[in-house]
Amino acid sequence: MNDSSNGRARGALTELATFVTTDIAGVTRGRSFAAQDIEDYFRKGVGWVPANLALTPFDVIADPNPWGSAGDLRLMADPASKARVTCLPDVTPLHFYHCDITDLKGEPWECCVRSFLKATLADFKTETGLGVVGAVEQEFQVLGADWPAAPSFGLRAQRRTEPFGPLLMTALKEAGAEPEMFLPEYGKDQFEITCRPAPALVAADRGATIRAVTKEVAALFGWNASFAPKTDPDGVGNGVHLHISFTDADGHPATFDASRPGRLSAIAGSFAAGVIRHLPALVAFTAPSVLSYMRLVPHHWSAAYTCLGEKNREATLRICPTLDLPGSDPARQFNMEYRAADACASPHLSLAVVLRAGLEGIRAGLEPPPLINADPSDFSPEEQEKLGIRRLPASLAEALDTLAADPVVTGWFTKDFLDCYFAMKRKEIEIVDGLSPEGLCSRYATVY
Ligand code: GLU
Ligand code: MG
Repeated sequence: MNDSSNGRARGALTELATFVTTDIAGVTRGRSFAAQDIEDYFRKGVGWVPANLALTPFDVIADPNPWGSAGDLRLMADPASKARVTCLPDVTPLHFYHCDITDLKGEPWECCVRSFLKATLADFKTETGLGVVGAVEQEFQVLGADWPAAPSFGLRAQRRTEPFGPLLMTALKEAGAEPEMFLPEYGKDQFEITCRPAPALVAADRGATIRAVTKEVAALFGWNASFAPKTDPDGVGNGVHLHISFTDADGHPATFDASRPGRLSAIAGSFAAGVIRHLPALVAFTAPSVLSYMRLVPHHWSAAYTCLGEKNREATLRICPTLDLPGSDPARQFNMEYRAADACASPHLSLAVVLRAGLEGIRAGLEPPPLINADPSDFSPEEQEKLGIRRLPASLAEALDTLAADPVVTGWFTKDFLDCYFAMKRKEIEIVDGLSPEGLCSRYATVY
């Protein structure tokens, strides 16, 4: 569309604002209204339907689900999560807000994943005194650009996208996502967006914002920016890496202790132990698609085992390096990276379950897990057993069974939520059953 299509200047069109929720299928959905009416909608929210939570990624509602045709909810926006992008040529501004799902009295709906993350952060604060800082690093591949091949990580790989990269960075800045880097990655036409650390709720919102904005910018060029965990069975995976660190009541870093193994503070060590303990169940939420398990295989720098490692990209929980230059404080940079997540997951739910598992470890005062600084698949079965290295589930069906068998993890949720989650995921398995690996990749690339 050009500026004057339909005889009307774009500036004269009614700008829409959208209240969105990013659901348990990792899909951002919502309702739009004239942006000029925003104050009214901040007060009253927009309508939403409980059974929407049972939507599979392929737009089929799992049936039965706990609600069927009954019930009404509201999407109540968080004004601070505003994303408004005006730099995109030939379209009206992209303008949206992340929402909590509430009942008609404005109380959090028991199945709202954003509210679940908020409650998790509140529990974390009450029980440990700590605040949680997060950052979400996301990889994606541009499909349909038909670029000449360019070397991995290469300058050419970046420049051939012109002006996509700069436009994307501008759009992300406008959207409040505080992007740090746009970098060509190892895979074919693969890129990564990193952003600045922020309070964990903001970090999760940003995860969804970055996906939405990137997809929109790529679509302007006629491309699909796919965050699917794999777009080619033989290619590299697209990960969502969750960076986590803690601050004390005064805002000082609380994850770092130079005197301890891996430089993890005592509380961060117990946190890591809780995550490692429950990891095989957590992946049912953080790597929640059939396709996710094509990515979570050994030797792919993704995550295939329960293992904590220092600077080890085969470790599922990785202690990140710090800069040792004059003037840089390692305690302020220090963080852990959870690598077994992908973009088929809700960023809010992913962060929340990792934090809940860590909190279990803190409550139990668990000892830190051993540091595995080599590829965990290179250890013998005996060594793996001794070090507590377990293979993560190898399929979504296995992950769901593992989740069902972990009463601690299922204990964090209501029965309705679990019934809906299992029904939706089993429906998803049924829908893609029988697809070839290539067919699976293309099916998911239409959604993610
Ligand atoms: N592409 C890898 C993944 O699937 C991650 C590579 C990296 O360490 O950046 O998670
Ligand atoms: Mg990467």
